[in-house]
Amino acid sequence: MDPDGLRGDQELQRVTLRRLRLPLVLPLRSAHGEERIRDLVVVEAVDGAGRSGWGECSALARPTYTAEHAAGAWAVLRDELVPAVLAGRAVEVVGHPMALAALAGATRDLALRRRGRSLVDHVAGSLGRPRDVVPRTAVVGRGPVDDVLAAVDDEVARGVALVKLKVTPRSDDLEVVDAVRRTWPDLDLAVDGNGTLDVRSFLALTAHRLAYVEQPAPAEDLVGSADLARRGDTPIALDESITSVDALRSAAALGAGHLVNVKPARLGGTDAAVDVVLAARDLGWGAFVGGMVESGVGRAAALAVAASELLAVPADLGPSDRYLDPDITTPIVVDGAGRVVVPTGSGIGVEIDGVALDAATVDRVDLGAA
Ligand code: MG
Repeated sequence: MDPDGLRGDQELQRVTLRRLRLPLVLPLRSAHGEERIRDLVVVEAVDGAGRSGWGECSALARPTYTAEHAAGAWAVLRDELVPAVLAGRAVEVVGHPMALAALAGATRDLALRRRGRSLVDHVAGSLGRPRDVVPRTAVVGRGPVDDVLAAVDDEVARGVALVKLKVTPRSDDLEVVDAVRRTWPDLDLAVDGNGTLDVRSFLALTAHRLAYVEQPAPAEDLVGSADLARRGDTPIALDESITSVDALRSAAALGAGHLVNVKPARLGGTDAAVDVVLAARDLGWGAFVGGMVESGVGRAAALAVAASELLAVPADLGPSDRYLDPDITTPIVVDGAGRVVVPTGSGIGVEIDGVALDAATVDRVDLGAA
């Protein structure tokens, strides 16, 4: 594997790993559980002149979304990935794309900052001229109907382009979707089943004029997803299923979906994400950038991909103050119309807030070049 940025020729002197615990502004509730604290691993790559580049591992605290989780990523980065890159050796680890994305992101950010170049411009070299602002999808977690209606009301007032509800086949989740649709008949609305939906719940949801149903069937069940795709006119977006360009080609060959949720953090970095976006375009699939409730480090990198006009569907990326208070970077903000402003500074485009970073750090290890 040769993820973006891992070249070993950048005068890399030191890599610092930090384990962070960041309280979330709103708890994250989905089919795979609830998180109130975001447990993140942040990678700092430092060159001989003391310049730093930053990357983030967006794995969740527990291995409930994919097989990766924060403690495992920490060990793989500390014991395998960082020593290999510092020694100029090839990375010979199977899997662990979120850990790889963190290290690749840090070394990429460092390389770009050394050249005074932005990640947005780097990505635009492959995906075309970037937009200044990106329309936003608000992802609203599961909960009692009154809580969800209040959350959607708040997001609609903020000018979001689309609202996506987290769902399971449970009847109370289906009733929530029905209540949202009845309250906002014209709202652009989608749902994310995180691989839990059956035929009955899928068909019940598609009665609500949805922009798309995300990941209805389990990640590996492309045949099941293709079966659902044939049962109605509602587009299917695949998230967990699409781990690579090859997985996207397989899904397309089976007719298993229509859209891909491109998450640079989950795919192994921004270069891997760019490859998936280009493959989706060639296959006639739509694409949008998804979020992992990242800190500003991961969200800024994802926005560099989302800025492309090829990502025509609104992105699941919001301003810093919807997730973390404070964020560990200069804040990512929205414009007066609720669109997310793409950071355009050097590297990922935002600067680290050292005070907030130190306050959130619960573990740290420094690894130096031999
Ligand atoms: Mg999803």
